[in-house]
Amino acid sequence: MALISGDGSLRNLTLEELEDAAHRQGEKPYRARQLAQWLYKKNACDWPEIKNIPRSFLDSLRKQYCLCSLSMSSRLESCRDHSVKYLLKTSDGNFIETVLIPQGGRKTQCLSTQIGCKMGCLFCASGQGGFVRNLSCGEILDQIAFVAKDTGSLPTNLVYMGMGEPFDNYDAVVKSIRIANASWGFGIGQRRITVSTVGIVPGIRRFSEEGLNQIKLAVSLHSPDDAVRTRLIPANRKYNIPEILKALEEAEDKFKRQITFEYLLAGEVTDRDEDAVELAGIAKMIHAKVNLIPCNSVLKEFRPPAERRILEFQKVLEKEGIRVTVRRSAGQDIAAACGQLRLQEGSVKRET
Ligand code: SAH
Repeated sequence: MALISGDGSLRNLTLEELEDAAHRQGEKPYRARQLAQWLYKKNACDWPEIKNIPRSFLDSLRKQYCLCSLSMSSRLESCRDHSVKYLLKTSDGNFIETVLIPQGGRKTQCLSTQIGCKMGCLFCASGQGGFVRNLSCGEILDQIAFVAKDTGSLPTNLVYMGMGEPFDNYDAVVKSIRIANASWGFGIGQRRITVSTVGIVPGIRRFSEEGLNQIKLAVSLHSPDDAVRTRLIPANRKYNIPEILKALEEAEDKFKRQITFEYLLAGEVTDRDEDAVELAGIAKMIHAKVNLIPCNSVLKEFRPPAERRILEFQKVLEKEGIRVTVRRSAGQDIAAACGQLRLQEGSVKRET
């Protein structure tokens, strides 16, 4: 039976919900904890893997749920930096991407939150294939389990920076963060989780009240100028820079971690010295740091600036006292920028 929406993954359930499922089958609550061990510590993806739980309970679960809602479509490993990009197929025949990026002792996994994206940012591949649907919490977590099964270990860090806008799928994303972080779940520390948003103001406000205050929040600013930002990011019409800044200022003391502005460096579009000075002014207002992202060329008009320009831009910010990092895009040889692979493979259409 095809599961249509992704709601069928067992990783949609919190420990309490697993306990309810156990209770309904006349099982003791500790069975839920045993099940969680299989789901989050042993990354079980097939029912026969599960050993110490009564068959009758497993059979009842099996009628309603699957252990992993995703299957492999392709796996590409970068020969440059060993990042690995997975194109995964959902149970209703759509495709999503997740990337594992090894760096030093860390293994960072970049997660997708939606199939496609509604934001339509001009430079981004994800929106170009259109929007299909939200991913369920289980589908977000199944990306972790699937890759952990493939590699033999869990990622050390998570970034919600794959396909989709996390705050446009708020409930599933926050639930997935709670389960990824829970000691009975994947047990990944809040400090090792980053959520990146285009700047959905109600999402920022709500998120600041969740008590998940060790999570890192990143906001894709990409230009300090409202008119330029609207051209790059249509969502800026609804939530413009002053509104985003107001929400961030109000939330600043609720987030324990410094906020990051992601800033796309596109040659002759966002990379002038004046942009850097204005950006510095904005970053100072909310004590944010800046992560410069030399643009991956998806459309011809957006090209990464020359290396020298990137360093000059960085220097202007540093002179203004801003903490700056440059994101050297992982997996350039395997089209690892979000949504690129899905577009290239022509797999944006649902399979019939
Ligand atoms: N929707 C969220 C998260 C997904 S995108 C957001 O907008 O933050 C993750 C980051 O990759 C964002 O900063 C996004 O703007 C950036 N990005 C998208 N396409 C890119 C490209 N072609 N080159 C460089 N960065 C890109």
